[in-house]
Amino acid sequence: MSFQALSGQAGLRRALTGKLAAGTVSHALLFCGPPGSGKKSWGLALARVLLCSGPEKAEPCGRCRSCRQFQSGQHPALFHLQPQGHRLGIDQIRRIRSKFYLGDGNRVCLIEEAEQMTPEACASLLKILEEPPSGLYFILLTGRPQRLPGTIVSRCQRFTLQPLSNAEIMELLSRQKGLSPGKALLVSRLSKGLPGLALRLSEDSSFEEQLTEAAEIVFNLAGGAQSSREILSLAEELVDREDLLFFLELIYLACRDGLLYLLCGNESLLIDPVQARRWEGVASPFELEEAMALLQKAVQELSTTNVNRRLTLEGTLLQLQRRFALCPR
Ligand SMILES: [Zn+2]
Repeated sequence: MSFQALSGQAGLRRALTGKLAAGTVSHALLFCGPPGSGKKSWGLALARVLLCSGPEKAEPCGRCRSCRQFQSGQHPALFHLQPQGHRLGIDQIRRIRSKFYLGDGNRVCLIEEAEQMTPEACASLLKILEEPPSGLYFILLTGRPQRLPGTIVSRCQRFTLQPLSNAEIMELLSRQKGLSPGKALLVSRLSKGLPGLALRLSEDSSFEEQLTEAAEIVFNLAGGAQSSREILSLAEELVDREDLLFFLELIYLACRDGLLYLLCGNESLLIDPVQARRWEGVASPFELEEAMALLQKAVQELSTTNVNRRLTLEGTLLQLQRRFALCPR
């Protein structure tokens, strides 16, 4: 893991390489960003270069003993803490605390989901941060910085990871996973700029199946053959999905592809021309636009407000079918 191997984050990259070159890296850093944004990869890359005995231009040398130990996942001066069952307790810090004060070289403590630290763990960390021993660095990772005590945040140099562009995600997927440009574009569109999510999707063997399932659902609604009872039981099935928002996004993309196909043929399709072609004679571009607006509204409501998931989903599916039925072909 090195900065070179990581994608995007021009601001963070510039700041870290500048501070490494000048020897002014803070002894406590806080990396913020949603799950999948790359916090851990950047934290580990920074840890590796801080521990390397001969870094070159702010990159680890890759040859020294420290780099080899890091590579094998067995570095004696890298302390890795993560919550155990949604809580990171003081006992976890106590177990390694004495090692923070041993040795002449750099030591790094990487804390994942730092917001899960208990008040006692926070107090213990704060005590160390107040008088940090030389060569000890803390790298805290969190998706919810607002849940960390202000006293800890104020002692950290804070960086927020930015979403990557579609082009950056596509480049990453082609470099690391050898994905075709078409598949890379689809995954980048769904990953919302989160490289971790993009990589996970590219490895998910059920992904194609889910796409087909999503297309089938909206296609059936457009066909108008389902009774209201059947639609309500479909809503009941879907509402328990952990990935409901993602799945609605797939349904949205199926409509988007249908619309593009009806308007301009095979160009710019994200999913599958065969699926998109099925929309001919089934829905008009106007209906598909309406369907997309409804789905977008549902995703927005479900992700930003405290609405009843089931009622929202039932309403959306019933409205979808009605819109398809009402529009003249
Ligand atoms: Zn090295």
